[in-house]
Amino acid sequence: MAARRADAVAPVLLSLFFLLCACAGDGGDAYLVTRVVDGDTIIIDMNGTEERVRLIGIDTPESVHPDGEQNVPYGEIAASFTKNALEGKRVRIELDAQTRDKYGRLLAYVYTDDAMFNETLLSEGHAQLATYPPNVRHVEAFAALQKDARERGAGLWAYLAEEAAEDGDAAASPQNGESGKDGAVRYAGGFIGNAGTKKFHLPACRYVPSIKEAHIVRFGTCEEARAAGFVPCKVCNPQ
Ligand SMILES: [Zn+2]
Repeated sequence: MAARRADAVAPVLLSLFFLLCACAGDGGDAYLVTRVVDGDTIIIDMNGTEERVRLIGIDTPESVHPDGEQNVPYGEIAASFTKNALEGKRVRIELDAQTRDKYGRLLAYVYTDDAMFNETLLSEGHAQLATYPPNVRHVEAFAALQKDARERGAGLWAYLAEEAAEDGDAAASPQNGESGKDGAVRYAGGFIGNAGTKKFHLPACRYVPSIKEAHIVRFGTCEEARAAGFVPCKVCNPQ
């Protein structure tokens, strides 16, 4: 009698279990990463279906963009980092409010055994923050990790500082995290303002390459940018 009742209940419990696991970061199903497309895009085998997954909340520099002009040397470094870390490994995924983008890609936080890989990319300086509402669940933690990586001059932040120094950019000359005489923290690479929109960005923001040369204004600190009447870009979140 008892055994028969358990038989009837088991399938219900089992489907409930899978339903709960499908959206959890921890304890969810682990999927094989069959290919890494670039630093922030991977392909996973989801129960026999190949799913292209875009890691959300972040942007790595472009390496495989169809418009070659958008690809930057650092993009290769970020892509290799993700390839080495994820290809052939099993990952779990966590979805946010919007599950797919207009290209049909799954938008996800990707977990390896010990960490959320979106966070790893930020803390290693291989990605920068890119916030697209409504997917904002981890934005505060992400912003803190980016600030820390930027202050340490990790990964792409050191690369950007070198690039800016080669350009003879005065705003970039102070060392990472060094306080200027006004006491404000100056970051390598400074900040890029757009005189057309009155917004300012991190140097690696996806919007920076499209700013007209004549509209580019460089700032050493956020305070300088704000004092000049510029507001922070909501995507790269300069701080
Ligand atoms: Zn921006």
